[in-house]
Amino acid sequence: MPARCRCPNTCLSLKITKVIQIQNLWFGTLKQLILMGTLCYICFALVTDKLYQKKESVISSVHTKVKGLAEVNEEVIQNGEKKVVPIVFDTADYTFSLQGNSFFVMTNFLRTKGQQRGVCAEYPTHRTLCHSDKNCKQGWMGPHSKGIQTGKCVVYKGNQKTCEVNAWCPAEATAEVPRPALLNSAENFTVFIKNNIDFPSHNFTMRNILPGFNKTCIFHKTKDPLCPIFRLGDIFRETGDNFSEVAAQGGIMGIEIYWDCNLDSWSFHCSPQYRFRRLDDKITNQTLYPGYNFRHAKYYTENGVEKRTLTKVFGIRFDILVFGTGGKFHIISLIVYIGSTLSYFGLATLFIDFLIDTYSSTCCRSCVYRYCTCCKSCVINEYYDRKKCEVIIEPKRTLKYVSFVDEAHVRMVDEQLRGRSLQNVKGKKVPRSMMDFREVSRLPQFLPDSPPTPEQPEQIQLLSAVTTPRASSPAWCRCGHCLPSQLPKDRQCLEELCCRKEPGACITTSELFGQLVLSPRALRFSLLYQEPLLALDSDATDSLLRHCAYRCYATWRFGSPDLADFAILPSCCRWRIRKEFPKSGGQYSGFKSPCLME
Ligand code: GDP
Ligand code: ZN
Ligand code: ZN
Repeated sequence: MPARCRCPNTCLSLKITKVIQIQNLWFGTLKQLILMGTLCYICFALVTDKLYQKKESVISSVHTKVKGLAEVNEEVIQNGEKKVVPIVFDTADYTFSLQGNSFFVMTNFLRTKGQQRGVCAEYPTHRTLCHSDKNCKQGWMGPHSKGIQTGKCVVYKGNQKTCEVNAWCPAEATAEVPRPALLNSAENFTVFIKNNIDFPSHNFTMRNILPGFNKTCIFHKTKDPLCPIFRLGDIFRETGDNFSEVAAQGGIMGIEIYWDCNLDSWSFHCSPQYRFRRLDDKITNQTLYPGYNFRHAKYYTENGVEKRTLTKVFGIRFDILVFGTGGKFHIISLIVYIGSTLSYFGLATLFIDFLIDTYSSTCCRSCVYRYCTCCKSCVINEYYDRKKCEVIIEPKRTLKYVSFVDEAHVRMVDEQLRGRSLQNVKGKKVPRSMMDFREVSRLPQFLPDSPPTPEQPEQIQLLSAVTTPRASSPAWCRCGHCLPSQLPKDRQCLEELCCRKEPGACITTSELFGQLVLSPRALRFSLLYQEPLLALDSDATDSLLRHCAYRCYATWRFGSPDLADFAILPSCCRWRIRKEFPKSGGQYSGFKSPCLME
């Protein structure tokens, strides 16, 4: 036996979206304009931001060299005499090695010379002043103390007494920083910055010292923007700071080296851009620990005693920040970019859809002059809105549709009747979807030439009973042709429905009712159309024809099959059909909601 392909149909099928094409010049033009705008923006972004490139962040190394000399007048003791002599500071004196991409230039300092380990009086402050030993506590040390207290109160100078401490003596004085800064001339120092960069995945290396570099150049924003030698004063001028002010207290300055490299051979460009940024707090408020300083000690031995010179160093730390990207054409990046922009083309439809939504229902409701241009376009939009969306009502046991021949719309009733006649329930208006009448117009060829003529005298009697208005029709009947329901009491209200809302002619008296609903030939055709070999001469034929007639009426009056399934036939029609195709025994089961059926 040959093996059969068991692959489910769904696996090998393709579901695609069905769309509605609106033939409208104004919407078509708007769509084209939006599409053109989107395309222009996408191309513009592609070229200006080079989105066809693969970008990589720079990795780098930095090396700096500071040069310059400064002269500082310092007090020295020569032959037992205090003298002020000029001292020259060179690179080794004023630079300190720092970790990372930073270098430090000392601009000011406070020195405490000849300190040695021992006990001495603390520098007088409001915390260290004392009157007697009681004010001092042995072993105590505060965060600002210069040593550990011995518990004694000793004379510092004159009649000033402070607690004695075990520390480096003499204790460092808490003095004001010298102004102007001692190394104010550091403004003229120069720094040479060597920066090597690498883009590993593009296999590209580069440095900021370009071929033909002039060793005597000095960086200038416009005149020499590529020179890697910077005058410290110029850096501060660029950021709008006063060098002398910063030099006194110290500070932190950022030197940014930005590499924006285009590594494509047809538009190669890769050179650094230097920018400066003050990184510390500019507001020099005494209480907020301004500036930048640290302590540094030089140790030496004098007559076998270990001594040190303590320096509180104020200066400027320069942090070099290297960042940037290198980009090179990459086909995958281009494809990813194109893919990411495809959704933008949907904007046109989205926008027009929004316009249709906005200027349909809400706008039409507020229209006063139905024939103004605005209202006309609203009506058109409403039409498009109806065409584009299909409202699907949840099929429920309580859902029913009702149609009156004197109303253009159908009514939707979605509630329990609780003893009320269906005729009297208001319901919600739903537009009637008309069947394509061109299809219907083909039917006459199958219809009888003349309406069925009753042969039996009982049939004449029956027909006349339903074609002539009855004097004793139920209270809810408006056409005079309805009959009371024969269903159990609790379900009767469902069949208490007339073909009209207001009194008038009954739909069963219309010619079309006879042709579309009652014609046995049309009904037989309809049944055989679905089941060509159906036996239509058995006892069950009347039932089949009756049910088919119900269906024909529902499809005719309610249009769509979705509504027809839940449509309730008016009593007059129901009984007219039953008269035509009766059931032996006369006990009819009535409407069953599709939700109750298996
Ligand atoms: P039966 O032939 O003894 O079952 O009784 P009926 O002549 O009342 O027909 C019952 C069948 O017709 C069921 O399938 C019902 O759903 C359907 N039917 C009866 N009344 C209505 C109605 O008002 N609207 C719809 N859509 N179907 C109906
Ligand atoms: Zn009626
Ligand atoms: Zn009627």
